[in-house]
This record gives sequence, C-alpha cells and structure tokens, in this order.
Amino acid sequence: MRIDACYFCSSKMYPGHGMHFVRNDCKVFKFCRSKCLKAFKKKKNPRRVKWTKAYRKTVGKELAVDPSFEFEKRRNVPVKYDREFWQKSLEAIKKIEDIKSKRQSSFVMRRLRQATAIEQQRDNREVQINKSLIRAPGANLPWEFSSVEENIENALEKVSYKRSDKRVSISEEPYVEEIHESSEEEMELIAEEN
Ligand SMILES: [Zn+2]
Repeated sequence: MRIDACYFCSSKMYPGHGMHFVRNDCKVFKFCRSKCLKAFKKKKNPRRVKWTKAYRKTVGKELAVDPSFEFEKRRNVPVKYDREFWQKSLEAIKKIEDIKSKRQSSFVMRRLRQATAIEQQRDNREVQINKSLIRAPGANLPWEFSSVEENIENALEKVSYKRSDKRVSISEEPYVEEIHESSEEEMELIAEEN
C-alpha cells in the first residue's frame, strides 16, 4: 500500500481516493480532490497559492530544509525483498516520525520567539514615534535634574531648621520654669529657716 501525496497541496492520498491526470508525455499528476485538480487545470502555481504546503515551505512558515526529509526521497534503485531489512525499516519509521515531530515543534517555537521579538520592536518604534502623547505634563519645563535636586535639598534644610527651632523653644520653657520653681521653693525654705 502506498500513500501518495497530492501534487498541488501535498496532502495524503489513501488508496481509492483522488484523481490522476496523465499528461501526453506520460507524467502522472495525482490530486486529492477536485479543488486541487481545478487549480491545476487553471495553471495555478502551488508555490503561489497560500493554502498549499509548497507555499508554506517556500515562505518559511514550515520546516523545509532538514536531514530527516532525506528518508522519504524516491530512489530509482530496485531493492530485493529482505525480511530483516523490512522489519528494521518498519521500526526506523516510528523513530523518524518522532524525530520529525520534535523538530517541527522546535521550529514552530523558534518562529514564535522571533515573532514576539519583532512585535516588541514594533511597539518600541510606535512609542518612540508617539512619545509626545505619553510625556508627563511637567517634563517640558526647562529645569535640569541637578537643579531640581538642589531645590529639594534647600527645602528640606529649611524644614529641618524650623523643626529644630520649635523643639528648642518648647524644650527650653519647662526647664526654665522648673528651675524657677525649685529656686523659689528653696528660697522660701531658706527664708523660713532663717
Ligand atoms: Zn490536494
């Protein structure tokens, strides 16, 4: 049993399905459905039609160059039937399918990563172009950063002076009163004793 590939969209063709077209130079073209046959009759190039595998490979949307594709190549060399060779090749087919699927998925992931990087670049460019829309209202003032810092430092110093003055004035008053009181009491005591 041979599973053929459609000439136009390169999808699988199981036995008993699809149509054959034989050109007058004996070349056989196989098509999976009437859609592909009609496109062929219209002389469409499968590499230019976006829903075909050929287009996706030429544009780089799917893995096209890989050593795992070498196994599928047709070799016009007759192979003698060999039971062991047959069994080994059947085992190998499973392994090759595994490897192919892994490589495809890694290829897709790489493309996704590239796409995110490109998106980020595009966003950055958009931000650079429309910078005036997101600038803060005070950002256009003609100060420099150092002058702003100096202003802030001066303001802080003034505040600290004021606070310290207040503390001093508050702390001085009760002490003075206490001293006065104590001195007066002492004076009275001294006077009584006298
Ligand atoms: Zn097809």
